[in-house]
Amino acid sequence: MFDLIIRGDQVVTPQGSGAWDVCISGETIAAIAAPGTFDDGQAGRVIDATGKIVIPGGIDPHIHSLWPMPSLEGGDPIMTDGPDVVSRAAIHGGTTTLLDFATWHEGQTIDEAVNIRKQDWSGKCFADYGYHIMLQGAIPPELLPQIAEAIQEGYPSVKIFTTDITPSRRGRKITHGHIWEIFKVLKREGGIGAIHAEDDEIVMHMYDVLSREGRTGFENLAEVHNSMSEDLSFRRIIRLAEHVEGTPLYMMHVSAATGVAAIEAARARGYPIYGETLHQYLMFTHEHYKRPNGQIYHTYPSLKESSDQEALWEGQLRGSISTVATDEICCTLSTKTQGHRIDDCTGGNAGCEPRVAVMYTEMVKKRGYSLAKFTDLVSTNAAKLMGMYPKKGVLAAGSDADITVLDPAEGRTVTAARLHETDYTPWEGYEAEVWPSLVVLRGKVMMQDGEFLGDVKDGQHLKRKVAEAIRQRPVL
Ligand SMILES: [Zn+2]
Ligand SMILES: [Zn+2]
Repeated sequence: MFDLIIRGDQVVTPQGSGAWDVCISGETIAAIAAPGTFDDGQAGRVIDATGKIVIPGGIDPHIHSLWPMPSLEGGDPIMTDGPDVVSRAAIHGGTTTLLDFATWHEGQTIDEAVNIRKQDWSGKCFADYGYHIMLQGAIPPELLPQIAEAIQEGYPSVKIFTTDITPSRRGRKITHGHIWEIFKVLKREGGIGAIHAEDDEIVMHMYDVLSREGRTGFENLAEVHNSMSEDLSFRRIIRLAEHVEGTPLYMMHVSAATGVAAIEAARARGYPIYGETLHQYLMFTHEHYKRPNGQIYHTYPSLKESSDQEALWEGQLRGSISTVATDEICCTLSTKTQGHRIDDCTGGNAGCEPRVAVMYTEMVKKRGYSLAKFTDLVSTNAAKLMGMYPKKGVLAAGSDADITVLDPAEGRTVTAARLHETDYTPWEGYEAEVWPSLVVLRGKVMMQDGEFLGDVKDGQHLKRKVAEAIRQRPVL
């Protein structure tokens, strides 16, 4: 006797995509059965998903909630929306797992940083979740054993910036000497580096150049956070990781062809380097900065050329881009557009709700990706790289019953008014060919036909551990 059977004819499993019945008992998948193996009487509830696409719940491995953003009017920073708002939108959009960040500040222990973050999240999230440990600035030697402990406690991914990003955000960058020491710990203890790589000297130089030339409008951001910076910084930090016996790296928000090439060169040498891109990099270029409210398309590093976009799409097919994340920062249009200059623009994006449906449309409908490839990019690979597999990211017996059903009959024009994030969306007017009609988290129906059924206490924290196979060779 099962609690729920979902019967579908396009169910994405490791054995292939096709007609399967997903049988759920409690919070987990009890069986992936051939159609008709169990009759309706053997389940408390049966849902017919014929004609729809059944995938493991989406995973967004890169979001920021309750993120402080400087107010350009002065005073306290503006806090972006919290896990409740972000995860509610994520669930509506078919994403059931979110990874945010616990930021370490000078003078704290990592434990303290994590505990502060727990207060932001515990009992306040509709989706399952975890945090990357975000380090910044000078790393005191006594922090290194704490990184080792954090990895053992289920926080294997450590975010590192090689740049301060803008001249006003000093303190974020970690120098390569300190990164070297962190990598030794990551390599030895089971960790993976989650890297924001830009060449700080080039970026800061370009802020100076454009300021001197009076070209400070944000539409010039691609000249500041440029492709050469991505080339230099990716190659330098990847080379450093190679020197530390091949420390595994997850390159966050790859934005340029140069970044893709650097990852591919390292993978060809056998090093475990993986790439993440964002759906705005796949869909928009720096030309979008010139549109009305062009800031809404921006995130750091920056939007680039259409040739970069092509490289990001090709990188997915060649394996150098493993995941599509959002870099979610959920704030209002007025906050997102408060800055107009190259040095005061807000990064991040509202996008965790449309991500799965937009990527299905782009990948499967427009580019002919297999359902398996699409599922890898929006769910499975993130689970593997971030140490959540096979609990998450797969429809298989024993895995969490996190399931998203995409319905072609629910395809729609994306509009902020119908989303659950904020008062704008960069995808306004986009024609999505599918939309989620059913979302299940650990066996609980969280959303069905647009009706939200979740409870803010449903989300659970995930203890993560990255498989050694992922850490040894570029296996995805
Ligand atoms: Zn970043
Ligand atoms: Zn980010």
